[in-house]
Amino acid sequence: MTAAPSLAIDADWARAVKALDGASEICLACHIRPDGDALGSMLAVAHALHARSGRIRPRVIASFGDTPFEIPAILRFLPGIELLSPPEAYPERPEVMVTFDAGSPDRLGLLQDSASRAGELIVLDHHASNTGFGTVQLVDPAAAATAVLAAELIGRLGVGLSADIAMGLYAGLVTDTGSFRYSPTSPQVHELAARLLATGIDPGAVAHELWDRAPFGYLGMLSAALGRAVLEPGAAGGHGLVWTTVTRADRAACGLPVDAAEPVIDVVRRTDEADIAVVLKESDDGRWQVSARSKGRLDVGRACVALGGGGHARAAGFTGRGSAAETIAALRGQLESQAAQRR
Ligand code: 5GP
Ligand code: MN
Repeated sequence: MTAAPSLAIDADWARAVKALDGASEICLACHIRPDGDALGSMLAVAHALHARSGRIRPRVIASFGDTPFEIPAILRFLPGIELLSPPEAYPERPEVMVTFDAGSPDRLGLLQDSASRAGELIVLDHHASNTGFGTVQLVDPAAAATAVLAAELIGRLGVGLSADIAMGLYAGLVTDTGSFRYSPTSPQVHELAARLLATGIDPGAVAHELWDRAPFGYLGMLSAALGRAVLEPGAAGGHGLVWTTVTRADRAACGLPVDAAEPVIDVVRRTDEADIAVVLKESDDGRWQVSARSKGRLDVGRACVALGGGGHARAAGFTGRGSAAETIAALRGQLESQAAQRR
């Protein structure tokens, strides 16, 4: 990157590089139910750590704290999936641990305890809601993706971009910028994308894997979810709320895993009449994982933080504490009071 991220200062980067240079074992972790930014950034750094020359190679462990440990189907094309190991095999007391795209320790799931005991805990993240955990915070809310920070780290480690590294970073960049559509898509983002594409990776192939394919059953699940969508024009202080659910039954009827519900929000949020769009996704354990989006009138990050989750002003999430009705009511209440404060 040409410009160093604004909040993480040179001394933080230097401390991170020194810790990684001196370690005999490096433990990487991204957030649970990883998206392209979390897993792509982590795998890119895993490749980079393996590629460093002129040193005794440290053991590199890479994981995320989901149980059962399932790699989301749409991310299995990423090079380096074979470098992942399940959280059960993760060191309890890592010498050096690096986290990716996690705004708070609970986002590490099963790996949260390892993080709390790590000798050095380097946090790479771009969430405005980041709680400030870790011993080295490489956190920049202005960064379009954690992949931007991972690219900076890889550069500072003195590793050049290989196609394998570039694939992970590119997947992160396109995931979090919605393919360069969202407002944080700066000239620097495009510059980084250009450097990644210069390694020869195929952007069409990445887009196909991430957004342009699904098993036939996805159409049935999407149709069930969209058929239930509710528009509440008066909600969220009159800015409008559109929401729906994707139930376990919807997925079971079509034989789909939980990550199959992720793209539904991108259809629901198109609704002109609502500033806020929400999809409640029922996990296999019956809890509701919420995806919330705002067009900018209200801050869904703030609302989700108040409900135990986190995220960005325009994209955030949390895990519900009760039924779907109770979960949407809790979020509705947060949005209502935020709108009232702004009046
Ligand atoms: P998505 O709706 O795509 O799962 O997530 C949108 C944004 O909110 C992402 O930046 C994601 O990391 C964050 N997010 C989603 N769910 C949670 C959650 O349960 N807790 C926290 N802290 N952040 C979340
Ligand atoms: Mn991200």
